[in-house]
Amino acid sequence: MSSIIIVKDSFDDLTKALGFINAADKKICIITDDNLAELYLKEVSSACSVLNNSVYSYSIKPGEESKSIDTIINIYDFLIQNQFNRDDLILALGGGVVGDIAGFAASTYKRGLRFIQVPTTLLAQVDSAIGGKNGCDYDTIKNVIGTFYQPSLVYVNKKTTDSLPSDEVSNGRAELIKTGVISGNVFEPGIEECLSFKKMITDEDPYDEHKRNILNFGHTLGHAIEAASAYKYKHGVCVGLGMICAFEISVKRGWLSTENLEELKTVLKRNGLLTKIKNINPDAVLDFCYNDKKIRDGKIRFILLRGLGNPIITDDVSRKEMIAALETINEKG
Ligand code: ADP
Ligand code: ZN
Repeated sequence: MSSIIIVKDSFDDLTKALGFINAADKKICIITDDNLAELYLKEVSSACSVLNNSVYSYSIKPGEESKSIDTIINIYDFLIQNQFNRDDLILALGGGVVGDIAGFAASTYKRGLRFIQVPTTLLAQVDSAIGGKNGCDYDTIKNVIGTFYQPSLVYVNKKTTDSLPSDEVSNGRAELIKTGVISGNVFEPGIEECLSFKKMITDEDPYDEHKRNILNFGHTLGHAIEAASAYKYKHGVCVGLGMICAFEISVKRGWLSTENLEELKTVLKRNGLLTKIKNINPDAVLDFCYNDKKIRDGKIRFILLRGLGNPIITDDVSRKEMIAALETINEKG
């Protein structure tokens, strides 16, 4: 099980945290991307060096294109050249791309090195750094290769998000709002509440076999909208739209009120997210849905709310309900 440390504004406590997990006198490979290397690598390297560790760094190009097998092979080469062994460590300094790639390398190199996540995007801090999912894209299919591998430590320095572009902040806010509505009736929980909820659920169901599915709230249609738009819209925007659709269906079933739906829309707008987009083709979106990994035995697994804070996992949402919900986020003209 991972330890999670959340601090306001520094990397100083990282040294102490490495002490807690008995990571003194080791090699540490910091995997990062070129943007983060410029911003935070020096500070993180210094914090890692205090306990007599030998610190190495490997930087990848920022962006989804780096989430490939080729990047992972290059990391293996780097670890071999520098004689990394089973008791050495990998530290991911970055957003979801770095975390996913570094986690996969950590889980497979020599059958597993200890792994530390230092997430720097809001999305990674509240979502991807917790729960042990990692991996890469292959042949245009997202996240098709990967493992479950829990980090030994997740160190969140909240201040790092000050340097994030605003659309990246909105991206993370969508997951915060998601957590707020599935865990209770606070639409905008703090990072701490969000992290502890995700940790509780993923500790209970680390391999995504049942309970963890609720974290996919807004994602069934969200992922499909993302794919159908050829990734023109960011993940958070699409999850926001997916949540509106899920709320719509719950409202029609009498499980949520129209006030709940209006509040969701207001909160999304306030956080730089969208409530409608142009040119949604509901049939095309559903085609992506039926090809998604959330499908089992030809049925789409959907998360609905039977009231705020009360998510249910169901496969009985009809095509008609989904199409009607998608029509409501279609901006005409
Ligand atoms: P995620 O999957 O969490 O959205 P990515 O790894 O795709 O994150 O990173 C998105 C972009 O934001 C990348 O260009 C990355 O270099 C940049 N980035 C990540 N963290 C920060 C930060 N704290 N400050 C500035 N830019 C950042
Ligand atoms: Zn998500």
